[in-house]
Amino acid sequence: MKILVSEVGPRDGLQSITSIMPLEAKKRWVEAEAAAGVTEIEVGSFVPAKLLPQLADTAELVRFARTIPGLTVAVLVPNLKGAEAAVEAGAHKITIPLSASETHSLKNVRRTHAQMLDEVKSIVTLLNGLPIDRRPKFEGGLSTAFGCTLEGVVPRDRVVALAEALMSAGCDEVGLSDTTGYANPAQVRDLVRQVRAAVGDHALTGLHLHNTRGLGLANVLAGLEVGITTFDSSLGGLGGCPFAPGASGNIVTEDLVFMLEAMGLHTGIDLQKLIEVRRIVRDALPSEDLYGFTPDAGLPLGFVQESKL
Ligand code: ZN
Repeated sequence: MKILVSEVGPRDGLQSITSIMPLEAKKRWVEAEAAAGVTEIEVGSFVPAKLLPQLADTAELVRFARTIPGLTVAVLVPNLKGAEAAVEAGAHKITIPLSASETHSLKNVRRTHAQMLDEVKSIVTLLNGLPIDRRPKFEGGLSTAFGCTLEGVVPRDRVVALAEALMSAGCDEVGLSDTTGYANPAQVRDLVRQVRAAVGDHALTGLHLHNTRGLGLANVLAGLEVGITTFDSSLGGLGGCPFAPGASGNIVTEDLVFMLEAMGLHTGIDLQKLIEVRRIVRDALPSEDLYGFTPDAGLPLGFVQESKL
């Protein structure tokens, strides 16, 4: 069985730190990770540079990443303007985040759920007007799906209803994001089942998990048990969590790949090569913490990846 590991460090990791990684280092990172066998990388976000100067070079990075054979180049877009820029740069996949917590949505993008769904419809109109070979895949990412730092508990029925609304608005698929690191394995199983029952198994294949409270890989396992086949993660857990010192942000790509491969699930990623990519990130961001148990402990004696491809 093949699992897609989608690297989000150049977007989610870099947006969470104040240091700015130079474009050349980002290119080396993306290139080296693709060479290690990673087939999907979220390279940035089309937001105004004054809001996220760390990601101001996203268009250039997309254009570079597109030249790497076999790599799916993904980006985040907050609105129609961002989607236009993503199409212009040639992204293969775009994700619009819709926060299940309306309070979070208002604070983050200053838009209600209804306004965000209108934005989604405008993007669908834009995409439908493109020739098929230039049309990126369009995902609605339900952020704060497992809980919110502002609202606390996010009702399950609301997440299900928003997933249905995103699909009716014309998204190709939805994803569930544990933006705040609140999820637990029982909740992951339950929410994935409920959303899949509403929108169909094919419309929910991916989870975006954080390791804020150490439950990241347990939540991956829960996702695997209910049929999830795509997991977002960040090399070195880059980004950390501003609210929990010492906790990594996204789940760590190296640990995720180790777990999957050790379980006999194929990622197509060469773990040794992946671990070596950390050097590029460390050299470019010497003051940032990198996380991960597998890189620190090394691979177990006798561990062989049965199939790297
Ligand atoms: Zn995230």
